Amino acid sequence: MPSTVNYQSLALAGVQALSPYQPGKPIEELERELGITDILKLASNENPLGASPKALAALAKPLKALELYPDGSGYLLKDALANKLGLHAKQITLGNGSNDVLELIARAFLTQGRAAVCSEFAFAVYPIVTQATGAELRIAKANPPEHAEMPYGHNLQNLLEKISATTQLVFIANPNNPTGTWLGKAELLNFLQQVPQQVIVVIDEAYTEYVEDPEFPNALAWLAQFPNLIVTRTFSKIYGLAGLRVGYAASSPEIADILNRVRQPFNVNSLALAAATAALVDDAFLEQSKAVNSKGLQQWFAACAAENWDYIPTVGNFITIHLKRPAAPIYDALLREGVIVRPIGGYGLPEHLRITIGTEAQNQRCITALKKVLAA
Ligand SMILES: *Cc1c(COP(=O)(O)O)cnc(C)c1O
Repeated sequence: MPSTVNYQSLALAGVQALSPYQPGKPIEELERELGITDILKLASNENPLGASPKALAALAKPLKALELYPDGSGYLLKDALANKLGLHAKQITLGNGSNDVLELIARAFLTQGRAAVCSEFAFAVYPIVTQATGAELRIAKANPPEHAEMPYGHNLQNLLEKISATTQLVFIANPNNPTGTWLGKAELLNFLQQVPQQVIVVIDEAYTEYVEDPEFPNALAWLAQFPNLIVTRTFSKIYGLAGLRVGYAASSPEIADILNRVRQPFNVNSLALAAATAALVDDAFLEQSKAVNSKGLQQWFAACAAENWDYIPTVGNFITIHLKRPAAPIYDALLREGVIVRPIGGYGLPEHLRITIGTEAQNQRCITALKKVLAA
């Protein structure tokens, strides 16, 4: 029966203004569309080495007990995290992916009449979780493309200037996705010192384990100093567990207690809990993943230099290339080569493609395909 009600108009104004998150194209979808196999997906910053073998082994036990609810407190995983990170378990909030934690933060602190601040080109989930609460999102200009050190990077002065009397949250990704840009220790610390204490600062460190620079900021080290700080991390990237959905926030116990109140009691499933707990201490897998990524980045930097491709500086497990022409047709042509990358026009970057760093062979295949479609 056709409805006479316009349900769109009933949604919160902030929700009406949202576009759905555009995920990377799934391999199976491209297989169906083109009838081809041997597809290479470098679109969602997944670990090309798969998951940690220790995590896979740890799945056996919960797999035999799927009738049981998971441990809603996530005791073992929080204990393992606390040990590894030098925190108290009371400071940790577990999520169904770190996106879930970002949503918990928004639900706990945002509502109509309040605002969150993030940078232009920042991770797409910040607008979604903010606007879903009815709160306003204030977007700070990023560094311009011609910026000498960090083109497209978060500009902390601009972020500070966007903080108003109604601002409750600031979202910062370090490194950021989809740009790969990052913030240094001194500038980030200086920023935290200038943010009013009643404003909560979320530093999203989804890619931090990939960063090689020993001077790269570890925001966990600042938790004791800044009670308004929340640091989020994930098992989706270097730990290779994106399909299981598990991430966490580290904060003061007081903020963790607040997040816990809006958390679904069983938001992290039993397989994810077991796999994450095991992956956390699989140092060999982490080292290997990091080494493959570092080599892959060098391979891409060399290819970009050889081909005269412009790219945004990156320390993550992806590289964002400026094609200086519309990226959508190039993305489509790459699909026909069986290579899935990520167009980021939705971020206001219609001439860029974001490409996940793969194994040496995967990178070579993607570089060759990109050369071919750009020359066509
Ligand atoms: C991939 C990514 C995440 C991870 O999200 P999950 O929900 O943990 O899979 C978080 N933040 C950023 C900036 C990311 O790119």
